[in-house]
Amino acid sequence: MKKYRLVCSVCGKPFERDTEPYVCESCGGLLEPEFDLAANASHYREVIRGGCVSGVWDYRDLLPVEGVEAPVTLSEGNTPLLTASNLGPIVGVEQLFLKNETLNPSGTYKDRFATVALSIEKARNTPAVALGSAGNAANAMAAYSAKAGMPCFVILPPGAVAERGWQVRGYGANLIRMEHTIDDCISMAKQGEALFGWKSLTTNMLTNPLPSDGYKTVGYEIGKQLNFQMPDWIVVPVGGGALMNKIYKGCKDMLELGLIDKIPRFVGAQASGCAPLVDAYQKGLKNPEIWPGVPQTVAFAIADVCVYDGITSMDVLTKSGGCAEEATDEEILEAMHLIASKEAVVAEPASACSVACARKLVAKGVIQPTDSVLCVLSGNGMRDLKLMEQGQKEVPFVKYRDVEAVKAAVNDYLNDSKD
Ligand SMILES: *Cc1c(COP(=O)(O)O)cnc(C)c1O
Ligand SMILES: [Zn+2]
Repeated sequence: MKKYRLVCSVCGKPFERDTEPYVCESCGGLLEPEFDLAANASHYREVIRGGCVSGVWDYRDLLPVEGVEAPVTLSEGNTPLLTASNLGPIVGVEQLFLKNETLNPSGTYKDRFATVALSIEKARNTPAVALGSAGNAANAMAAYSAKAGMPCFVILPPGAVAERGWQVRGYGANLIRMEHTIDDCISMAKQGEALFGWKSLTTNMLTNPLPSDGYKTVGYEIGKQLNFQMPDWIVVPVGGGALMNKIYKGCKDMLELGLIDKIPRFVGAQASGCAPLVDAYQKGLKNPEIWPGVPQTVAFAIADVCVYDGITSMDVLTKSGGCAEEATDEEILEAMHLIASKEAVVAEPASACSVACARKLVAKGVIQPTDSVLCVLSGNGMRDLKLMEQGQKEVPFVKYRDVEAVKAAVNDYLNDSKD
């Protein structure tokens, strides 16, 4: 028997159907699994209190995974929550936390989706899975299908960075490059369901509400790791919106269970070169519009022209009293450097966008210096190291055993560190 039903994430209306699109006819909100928390509150409280042991599957009883007997897992989740005491003063707040999702098996929080998705598809004997993506979701699905022993087909646009494609092939997935945008690759993978019998695993609530639910474990972990004293703000990079929406859902569950006494204010962080959520926030729209033109940003992982789960994202901003903010590539790259040089986390540009936006909101006086802020570092920058070189001065090159030249280089560095 199912322990959950699908309800509208915005108005709460229950749904019996389990077919696409997973959208509420009344208000346009995205549908999501809802467990009857009140019916078994003490058990669910124990599940959340007992988390942060082996990872996402600690929360199995709160995940829509009936029928799964053998999870496909790589010990994803249970990622560190860091107190960023060096970076905090630069951002401008007394308390800055970083949720380090870069340490997931394939390098991003999308593994929390992939573990649920591949576990469900494996149990259903699905012949193959497929994905159109900017690269990170593709790697999550490629990694978990490798573990599951299932064929995986990945369609990447030309703009997806080479390193993401190499990683996909490392996991043994079948890579196809297709012209145009991420969204075109996503719809091709969807069209392939009828042609090839594979399952398209786009990482949004709109098409895959069950695996998207895996993301709410980020919220549960933050709760447990902070002894259920939630920060004032949670800043999340937003592409399609699922990550932010689901961390909010995790908080909502904890509030309903009486584990926490407030829901943080959520900030949707985007890059200026593709910021449909920010645009909707500024114009007061209920549903973000498609971003006109071609996205221009180093934060390719969040450069979705369509905020797929956008009605729910706007609702999360409204209900939590949050906002949306954008950062330029320059600000994002500076944040990427700062996160590495002050807190020793190598985060990819999309993740660094959260810190860049938090910093701007402090400067604007929206976030107060006395507020506590948590930024989600969603993905690993070890695959984007060439970006670390941008804006850096040239590495000194000296002749063999040229002590004078080495002295000059050392002094040069010492002088730099003085300013
Ligand atoms: C996919 C992705 C995001 C955005 O996630 P959505 O759920 O689509 O909003 C943020 N950061 C990284 C590194 C990602 O790969
Ligand atoms: Zn609704």
